[in-house]
Formats: sequence, C-alpha cells, structure tokens
Amino acid sequence: MKIGVLSVQGAVSEHLKHLALCGVEAVPVKDTTNLSRVNGLIIPGGESTTIGKLIEAFGLTGPIRERSEKGSLAVFGTCAGMILMAQEVSDGIARQPKLGLMDIRVKRNAFGRQRESFETAFKFNSFETPLPGVFIRSPLIETAGPGVEILASLEEGSVAARQGNLLTTSFHPELTDDLRVHQYFVEICKSLKQS
Ligand code: GLN
Repeated sequence: MKIGVLSVQGAVSEHLKHLALCGVEAVPVKDTTNLSRVNGLIIPGGESTTIGKLIEAFGLTGPIRERSEKGSLAVFGTCAGMILMAQEVSDGIARQPKLGLMDIRVKRNAFGRQRESFETAFKFNSFETPLPGVFIRSPLIETAGPGVEILASLEEGSVAARQGNLLTTSFHPELTDDLRVHQYFVEICKSLKQS
C-alpha cells in the first residue's frame, strides 16, 4: 500500500507525516512515474489555481482523471484540493483549472473575512467523538449529486463528502493530531480494485 501526496505546492509534509503514522508508505508525487506507483493520492491545501496550473503543466491532470475514473486510484482533496476535485466552482476565476472529479459545486473562500481561519470540532460520519478541523480560507460544498455522501456539515454548509473512491474535506485534518480522516482514506485505498 503506497499513498502519494501531490507535491507541486501547498501543505505536503504534514500529510506525509500523518500517512506514515497510519502505517502506510507515503511518497511525494510530482510526475507521472511517481503517480503510476501509488494506490491513493492526496491533493493538499494551498492555492487551487496555482496547483491546477502546475498539474496541467506537469502532465498530471489527464492521468489522475483516467485512473480515478477507472477506479484504480483513490483521491483525497483537502481545502484547495476540494476546489480542484469539484466539477463546478462558483466564484472561481474565469478559467479555473480543475480536475472535476466529484459531482459537487463548491464556493471558494466561503466563510468570508469574519471567519477566515478558525478551528472547530464537529460530527464526522460515524466517528464516535467530534473531529477537530482547521479551516483556512476554506471552501464549502453548495450542492452535491445523488452519488455523493455528505460526511460532515457546519452551520454554514457541508464540509466533507465521499463519492466512491473520492474523498474531500474543506478543512485541514493534517494540521491536528487526529489521524481518523487519514485512516478513513487509507481504508478507501485498501478497498480499491487493483489496476
Ligand atoms: N482559498 C484557497 C483557494 O481558493 C484554498 C485555501 C487552502 O487550501 N487553505 O485555493
């Protein structure tokens, strides 16, 4: 079991550390050779337009789409990663580069200036105790298609979702000591059919 963290820009090392603590081999991914060797890929937080442009320039957009559509790659996007995974982005730039993997519409910087960065705990799927999450200029899920399962919501809207082999959170689980979301992603990776 090998899981990659897209390492073109953004919060990479914290994800690598969390994956290692979950007992899986974690590797940075920035080219198609690295990508072909992993069962799962985390798209970290950062700046979604920058990450989107860089993955296009590095020829990663097509291969990520193909393998995730085939079901041989699990993808987990956090924050900017959620924006890249969404099929629709409201308030994006005119040519918002995206992977468009999940049947969701997201709003960028959805919490406004009042709540730009904050930490809060909330119910996540079937976890027994509240999950702490760090939000940094985070997006919200505005709408989700019928194949999408919402895993967590705040008063303002939905902040985590799953669609088969695809997982997304608008918060940063890598910035707390809680490993449960990464463990949840590792389980999705383990359940994939082999490519
Ligand atoms: N607001 C950023 C964006 O639109 C995402 C912020 C983050 O990843 N922490 O790309």
